[in-house]
Amino acid sequence: MKLLSYSRDAAVIALAASLTALPATSAFAVSDSDILNDAETTNDVVSYGMGPQGQRYSTLTQINDKNVNKLVPAWTYSFGGEKQRGQESQPLVSNGKIFVTGSYSRAFALNSQTGEEIWQYDHRLPEGILPCCDVINRGGALYDNLFIFGTLDAQIVALDQETGDVVWKEKIDEFKDGYSNSAAPLIVKGKVITGVSGGEFGIIGRLEARDAKTGKMVWVRPTVEGHMGTLNGKDNGISGKTNASWPGDLWKTGGAATWNGATYDPEVDLIFVGTGNPAPWNAHMRPGDNLYSTSTVAIDPDTGKIAWHYQFTPNDGWDYDGVNETVSFNNGGKKLAGHADRNGFFYVLDRTNGKLVNAFPFVNQIDWAKGVDLKTGRPIETGVRPGDPSASTDGKKGKQIFVAPSFLGGKNWMPMAYSQATGLFYVPSNEWGMDLWNEPVTYKKGAAYLGAGFTIKPLNDDYIGALRAYDPITGKRVWEVKNKAPLWGGVLATAGNVVFTGTPEGFLKAFNAKTGEELWKFQTGSGVVGSPITWTEGGEQYIAVPSGWGGAVPLWGGDVAKAVKSLNQGGSLWAFKLSK
Ligand code: CA
Ligand code: CA
Repeated sequence: MKLLSYSRDAAVIALAASLTALPATSAFAVSDSDILNDAETTNDVVSYGMGPQGQRYSTLTQINDKNVNKLVPAWTYSFGGEKQRGQESQPLVSNGKIFVTGSYSRAFALNSQTGEEIWQYDHRLPEGILPCCDVINRGGALYDNLFIFGTLDAQIVALDQETGDVVWKEKIDEFKDGYSNSAAPLIVKGKVITGVSGGEFGIIGRLEARDAKTGKMVWVRPTVEGHMGTLNGKDNGISGKTNASWPGDLWKTGGAATWNGATYDPEVDLIFVGTGNPAPWNAHMRPGDNLYSTSTVAIDPDTGKIAWHYQFTPNDGWDYDGVNETVSFNNGGKKLAGHADRNGFFYVLDRTNGKLVNAFPFVNQIDWAKGVDLKTGRPIETGVRPGDPSASTDGKKGKQIFVAPSFLGGKNWMPMAYSQATGLFYVPSNEWGMDLWNEPVTYKKGAAYLGAGFTIKPLNDDYIGALRAYDPITGKRVWEVKNKAPLWGGVLATAGNVVFTGTPEGFLKAFNAKTGEELWKFQTGSGVVGSPITWTEGGEQYIAVPSGWGGAVPLWGGDVAKAVKSLNQGGSLWAFKLSK
């Protein structure tokens, strides 16, 4: 008896010793290799894009085209309060918890099998924040014991995964000047990578890398030519060459916001960040290409230097932000990347050097360009640009044009998926155009800096949205599924031959990845504009997606906004699994 007691104490002492020998953040800390391997490890989702390359592809097959019609809710959780609005987040799953962000810069941790709340964090937002496009957030990042996300008042907050307590918090910039943050951060080599929103306020786009454990700044890389970068607090060379692609002082308020975050590919060891419109929208004020606006910019994660860039819309005059995700994929031994731009073209780039490999339309009507010259990599413009207001009789309004796509884009922020099984990209696209005209404008800190007016209009009576499957090598559209309202949510593809996406009408839907046949749908109670994920736990495959209509369409959609005004707001997270 005495001996047993002794040995048990010894065991306890030995266990305690082994525990104290571990780092403070112990067994379930998310590491760099966990993030790099995220796409292969199906028991968790530890990065935005389900892998830093952003493919949103899962090798799981438990849920497949034969049984997906047996999906039923496992649980649902309300984000609560009066703070509904658009829920554009992608959840993350690790160590029995699901982490998700909500509107108004909130974050939640729940039990991933039961939906029971573990903690809720409500960021205290000041009066006077300037989000352009609803009070949304697109998701967080996991690193070590932290859940890290950006806020509408341009801060970055790191919370303890267990408790939701703030571990560190850093100010990105002045929200009063138009800066905000809503994209999911990216983790690369222990650094948390974030951009800035505010392209409609003449802010300066940039990518920043901080030590993910402490928040300490490592490097800053501006995405407007002429601005100085830093590395460890020291000057690190200007981006581009001052005034090479910008006239006068316009580069000082040049926009090129990095508002949709970035992806990373370890094979070429580069970060790919998209950049928004050059400011102001009135392109007559800024002749030149206006680098590095409307581009994918490839950045060295160690030095913060630009390795290459590819510009989709030189001298953008239509607000065709180039922020959409750049997704790495390999084909025939080539290291490629796919990007479906707001301007209506799908681009395939060589991701080792940024050279254009292929470009083709993924929407039915593109008025501003006939195509993209594969030799020069430049668009073949049609001349459909709004007129110069300074050339008009009253000097107040330039010639109005109609142009498709609208500035909300052939595709907007909502991420597409790439299936390694089918070799296809699944692109959430929209068919719409706009009346557009230019006006004179002068820069005023914290005020909208557009010099343009617009009304968005549908192109068809029966649909705006279309989920489309494209072969990136041939440019062939393999299938499409039309949707009445504009699509505004992310896509997920699985090895089970299923593609998932949501609709503003409230459905999460599943389609056959090869044919587009609708296999299943479920009404979540409000529009689905978030991004679905999948993982396994306790031997069962789960699908989760946020629900809650909102985002830019109801605010900026013109005639389209009128058509969708009956859609109700919401705020919840849904999880599904196969019925037994
Ligand atoms: Ca994983
Ligand atoms: Ca913009």
